[in-house]
Amino acid sequence: MSTKTEIINIEQIRKDFPILSTQMNGKPLVYLDNAASTQKPQSVIDRLTKFYRDEYATVSRGVYALSQQATIECMQVREKCAQLLNAAKSEEIVFVRGATEGINLIASAYGEKFLKPGDEVIVSNIEHHANFVPWQQLCKKVGAAFKVIPVNDAGELLLDEYKQLLTDKTKIVAVGQVSNALGTINPIKEIVALAHGVGAITVIDGAQGVPHLKTDVQDIDADFYVFSGHKIFAPTGIGVVYGKEKLLEAMDPYQYGGEMVQSVSIEETTFAQVPQKFEAGTTAFAQIIGLGAALDYVNKIGLDNIAAYEHELLLEATKKLEAVEGLRIIGTAVNKASVISFELKDIHPHDIGTIVDQEGVAIRTGHHCAQPTMQRFGVPATARASFCFYNTKEEIDALVAAIEKVKQVFS
Ligand code: PMP
Repeated sequence: MSTKTEIINIEQIRKDFPILSTQMNGKPLVYLDNAASTQKPQSVIDRLTKFYRDEYATVSRGVYALSQQATIECMQVREKCAQLLNAAKSEEIVFVRGATEGINLIASAYGEKFLKPGDEVIVSNIEHHANFVPWQQLCKKVGAAFKVIPVNDAGELLLDEYKQLLTDKTKIVAVGQVSNALGTINPIKEIVALAHGVGAITVIDGAQGVPHLKTDVQDIDADFYVFSGHKIFAPTGIGVVYGKEKLLEAMDPYQYGGEMVQSVSIEETTFAQVPQKFEAGTTAFAQIIGLGAALDYVNKIGLDNIAAYEHELLLEATKKLEAVEGLRIIGTAVNKASVISFELKDIHPHDIGTIVDQEGVAIRTGHHCAQPTMQRFGVPATARASFCFYNTKEEIDALVAAIEKVKQVFS
């Protein structure tokens, strides 16, 4: 009988990522900071190199073949993003720099236009700052109320409390698909349906969702959905906002400049159609092309296979870390992605991170840009290991051995 592990050809996959066979501090690199950013497969590196070396030209402007080819490829990547999210059409895909810029775009171009004093915006207690601060600041600017869905001690959203927060004044509900600090997978379809019940629109921060879970924005019925390319094997500096076409059309531009206009005169400017209306300036076209190669890579492995294997890693790592005396996992939701935040006795997370690095193990330490989450759990910071489908069970053992070294140092 085939096990889930066999679905992933781990040996081949690790060969696809050159950095995984390098050493760090004289030890094999064990890269466990995937929630912050993922490593890049050779196919993405090769695509970028080839584009810069043989095919480089700006998009949209040129009548010459080089520029036209690059333009066509960028259009194809927009289509690939629409397929990834199952958007109804590629015009609903806006290229931005990343999830942070995407959420700021929505908060400004939708929020500032449609919110009035007395309206309400709801986020959750376990959002990344990128899906917290823009809404908090929008509320201050327009005089709206800012409400926060609480979580239980496992880090799961309290849906009954959420229902209590919803009123006919709620205009926006912004929630992450997966918490970067705790790993909680939120029931976003239910959250969206409840928001729609009071006439609110929804913004889903998919930064930690899209690399690990098959996502269907039409099935979720999300009004907006954002993600960052660099967390899904693409280059830095590229991300996506999905928005329902009628909402994108109703919004004013976020930034003004070249490429987002139809015509400009001294008296007046008319704007381009969606999505170009939101893509002022020269787009990050090389990064877009890199994103296309990254999505090809993900599709080759298959998000269902990725999710199944990463779940195995999560279960194995949870079991092994729970067995470490003095270690406490923070974030124990039933439905979790492969992110494990923990504290170890009273050892400062930065000390944990520094010592395990000496063993070649790269983990994240700090507040993970989620200070309200840290406050909820009464800790200033945690150590966090986040796993990707290129990680192995042997690497979990290396993490555990490195943590035992930390304990020895502090014994
Ligand atoms: N949301 C979540 C859940 C994240 O984990 C991150 C990145 N850590 C972001 C938003 C922001 O992404 P970026 O920095 O790529 O804009």
